[in-house]
Amino acid sequence: MIERFSAPGTILPMYLETITASDMAWQEQALCAQTGADFFFPEPGSSVREAKRICAMCAMRSACLEYALNNDERFGVWGGLSEKERLGLRRRAQN
Ligand code: SF4
Repeated sequence: MIERFSAPGTILPMYLETITASDMAWQEQALCAQTGADFFFPEPGSSVREAKRICAMCAMRSACLEYALNNDERFGVWGGLSEKERLGLRRRAQN
């Protein structure tokens, strides 16, 4: 299932070895599991508005964002935040 949530070619084998089934349980209730990954991994410069609209309605938003931050997900929209927004959040947390 993790492939559904990551841009093609971005899953590192070391992550697959460390991620447990319970880490991923929230994905079974993820709203984006019903929509496909395209909205969440748009081409560079494309809008993320539709992905954020879906995330805003998703009950798994907090778990999704926590997972993305804990696993240093660099690509796509996770937990309603874009790549730049997650990077900003990470930087603010370090200061
Ligand atoms: S918050 Fe967005 S990306 Fe995360 S599981 Fe929900 S719909 Fe998917």
